[in-house]
This record gives sequence, C-alpha cells and structure tokens, in this order.
Amino acid sequence: MQGLMMDRPLLISSILQYAASYYGDTEIVSVNTEGGEHRYGYRAMAQRSAQLAHGLLAHGMKTGERVGTLAWNNHRHLELYYGVSGVGGVVHTLNPRLFPEQIAWIIKHAEDRWLFTETTFLPLLEALADHLDRVRHIVVMTDRAHMPESSRLKQLMCYEDLLEGQPETIDWPEFDEHTAAALCYTSGTTGHPKGVLYSHRSTLLHAYGAAMGDMLAAGRGDAILAVVPMFHAAGWGLPYAGPIVGAKLVLPGPKMADGETLQRLIETEGVTYAAGVPTIWMALLGYLRESGKTLGRMRYAGVGGAACPPSIIREFHERHGVITAQGWGMTETSPLGSMALLSRAEHESLSDEARIARQAMQGRAAFGVEMRIVDDSHAELPWDGVASGRLQVRGPWVCSAYFRTEHSSAHRDGWFDTGDVAIIHPDGWLQITDRTKDVIKSGGEWISSIELENHAMAHPAVAQAAVIARPHTKWTERPLLIVLPAKDQQPSIDEWRKHFTGRVADWWIPDDVVYVEEMPHTATGKVNKLALRERYADFRFSNDRENQ
Ligand code: ADP
Repeated sequence: MQGLMMDRPLLISSILQYAASYYGDTEIVSVNTEGGEHRYGYRAMAQRSAQLAHGLLAHGMKTGERVGTLAWNNHRHLELYYGVSGVGGVVHTLNPRLFPEQIAWIIKHAEDRWLFTETTFLPLLEALADHLDRVRHIVVMTDRAHMPESSRLKQLMCYEDLLEGQPETIDWPEFDEHTAAALCYTSGTTGHPKGVLYSHRSTLLHAYGAAMGDMLAAGRGDAILAVVPMFHAAGWGLPYAGPIVGAKLVLPGPKMADGETLQRLIETEGVTYAAGVPTIWMALLGYLRESGKTLGRMRYAGVGGAACPPSIIREFHERHGVITAQGWGMTETSPLGSMALLSRAEHESLSDEARIARQAMQGRAAFGVEMRIVDDSHAELPWDGVASGRLQVRGPWVCSAYFRTEHSSAHRDGWFDTGDVAIIHPDGWLQITDRTKDVIKSGGEWISSIELENHAMAHPAVAQAAVIARPHTKWTERPLLIVLPAKDQQPSIDEWRKHFTGRVADWWIPDDVVYVEEMPHTATGKVNKLALRERYADFRFSNDRENQ
C-alpha cells in the first residue's frame, strides 16, 4: 500500500522562496572583490537571483548546461548558486587554487558553456584562453565601473549588465528532484580530479540534515561566517542551510585567510558561528594572540576538512570562550558526514581533558548518513573503540558514481569507500585516524599520523606539524615528524621522544624530526603530504643501519 502524501519535488528554489518570505530582511554581508562591503537581505537576494535566471535564459542557457564559477565567497556567487540551479542549470564551482592545467582539464571535462569569473582570476583565464574554445560566455562578476579589458578573452560580459532590466520575480520551474544542480571536482592529489554531481534532492536533504541542532550550531538570530570557500564542496552546504534556519550570512570575499579581516568581520557583524579548515583558525588565533583582539559574540567555531588539533580546541575555549564543533566529510558526501558537537550536559560533566579528547574526534554521523568500518576483505569491524578499518558510508547525499567516469573502485555494494581509516567507539563516536594513503605501517601494525600530529601540535615550539611514513628496512615504515617551528626553538629528537612518551605507545614515537621553513598545502588548505613524501623521498632514518 502506498502512502497518500503529496509528492512535491525537493528543489533548491524552495529554499530561496522560503528565506525571502520569512527572513526577507535578514542580512547577507559580503566583502567585495574590488573593496568595500555589500549588504542586502534574503528578499533582495531572491530578486537578483531571479534576474540572473532570466538573464541566463535570455542568453540561451539550457537545462543541464554547466555554468562554471571561479569565484570567492560573496553575494554574486550566492546568486549563481540559486539562479543557475533554480532554472535547471548546473553550477560548477571551480577551485582557483588548483594548477592552471588542472582547471583547464576540468573545464573541458565538465563541458562548461559559461564561465563566471572574478576580476582577480582574469589573468588565470587569459592564460587558459586556448583551452576555452567550447565556452560560449565569459561573465565578469563585477559592475560596469570595474569592468576590465582583455585582449585574449573576447566579448566579456559584465555580471550587472546580465541582470540589468530583467524582472525581479520568476515562477521557478518545477522539475524532477533528481535533476543535477551543482558540480564540484575533488582536488585529485592522485590521478585526474573527479566530478561529484549533486542533485536538487541530495542538496535539499543535505540542507535539512545540516540544519539540525546537533550539526549546525546556528539558527535564527545567529550570524554565520562562511570561511570555507564556496568552491569547496558547496561551501559545506552553509549557503543552503543558513537561509533555511534564517541565519545572517557573512561572506569574506577574497579575504579568506586574513586573520585581521576575519576578526573585524566577526566583531562588527556580530558573528556567532564561523566555519573553516584548521589552518584558517590557526591564522586567526595567531592574529588574536599578537593583536590582543577578541571574538565579539562568537560562540562556535565549526572546523573540518582536516583533523582539528586539540591545541586549537583548547585555545578557542580557554582564551575566547568559543566551543569547537568538528565535522567530518568530503566532497563526495556533500560534504556533511558527522559532527562532534557536545551537549550542554557533556560540557558540564566532562573534565577539560575528556571534553577536548571528544571534540578532537569527528563525532556522530548525521541522520541520513550510515557508516561502517571494514577490513581489507570488506568484513565489517566492531564499534568497540579499538578496531580500526576503512570507513565506508552510504546515504541520499553520498555520491553514487563520479561524473563521466565509468569505473570507480571506491563504489562497491552500494557503499562508498571514503579512503579514510577510522575507529568507531561503542556510542557511535567516529574517530578518523588517517587517510589510507597516509597511514604508517610499522611492523605490520598501523600508526595514526593524525594522533601523532595532534600531540606534536600541542608542543609550544610548533606552528604546524605533519607526520609521514618513510621506508625502514626492519619495520617497513617508520614515522618521520616534520615541523614548522613557531619560534627559533628546534627540539631534538630526544626531546621529542620525551614529549611523546606516555601520550602514545612507545613504538609509535617518530624516529626522527626535520624542521621546515614552510609547510606545503593542497588546494583545499590541507597539509600536502604527497608533496612532503616527494620532498623527503631520499630520507633515511639514522637508526636504519642497513639503509645508509
Ligand atoms: P580533497 O579534494 O582535498 O580530497 P575533500 O574535502 O573531499 O577534499 O577531502 C575529504 C577528506 O578530508 C576526508 O576524506 C578526510 O580525509 C579529510 N577530512 C575532512 N574532515 C576531516 C576531519 N574532521 N578530520 C580528519 N580528516 C578530515
């Protein structure tokens, strides 16, 4: 017997209509690429998204057509999220931090017919001009006064001209909720980048899931600062969940890694919740230490994309009264998979150490995402807080196949293999210990690089730390500690041994340490371990006598 409820499609345009109707005056503030700030409410945002949609249709945009963006977090990018998908187009966010050849490859693979770009990225596109023959329109996301000239890119369109004179209302079309809405490529540290194609349905369900109290520590009356780029996994879904809960949105434009701007926005815009990767928070906390400035009304720091070192959790809380909410996810999971947001009771009952240890894990799966850990033969492992295995997930906002890719070894039996190694505690709390490709296999056992890094980062001499596996004749691999020093201090390996003793098993302790002047990062702001492994390809441990 079938239920007798209405079959209304889950469409992204409904978020816009809802926010415009109920939170019309709630603000969206963004830092302009050309300087200054722009502010308006959800009502005006919906009107301009409608104008954009009309403009796209007037220029022949068709259903399913890919519309590329090379853009910062700002109001125009937000309008593209809604205006393009709302009329059946696919907004394809390109990561400008990738190598130009990768960007060219992705534009071709996705068959982008439109490219929306900031003035900042025009030189990048000019360098790629020879690869853009199939792109029909290039639109610069600026106003007339700031329109640049380009000798290499012909017929540049101005974003504001595209909207000018178009109606401010639109009957958003209704179509199948499984229609593609957005496309985002993973950074592809190995092989070509892979496209994850979100649907309206997956985006809506993800937004519902993300808006839940245990996931997003923000609601009506809150102001969300989205420091995570909108070109990275749909800005972690904040551009969709924020309007649903009626929160103010603060978008930092090109000033994403700038502690001074972030602090100013947090204070002046009354930010209560801000989300970003750990490196962003390290930069902000460093700026606060030096300047003596504070975080105004901010109560929560959302952190994800890489493991959050306990030192960040501690400093946020002890110095600024800010609670850290660590999320785990990936482009393939839209991205929300889990969140470590403690209840008030846990905050009151746990000791500082126990609380930080729990916040330093990745938390509880979002309702809608099923998780399991398996061994190499795909047998399920227990949730006992001890067994560690490959983390697999499934759910309506988990990618079922990559865009235009025939085969993917990550998809099997209806589960997606995340490439992460994890432990699950008896109460379901997730703890990521590594990525499979970063895991250190010593004497047949695994050592968690994340745990070693977390302990290293707690040392006052460390600005940033990474641990990588290097070959060892006797043990196959041993951990090498790589440190970006905070000051001039460079503790010896003996001092490091003392630091780690009692914190981890003795056989986990790194055999050597090297100091670097800069830490390489990937296009998504994580420590680039592949680059480190290449840089230290010839490294030999001094205790590896047979391999000198
Ligand atoms: P990339 O393109 O860099 O792979 P993703 O955002 O898709 O970008 O990366 C997802 C990966 O980031 C996860 O598989 C996991 O390894 C890592 N990650 C994300 N959040 C966390 C977290 N809270 N703790 C540990 N690792 C994380």
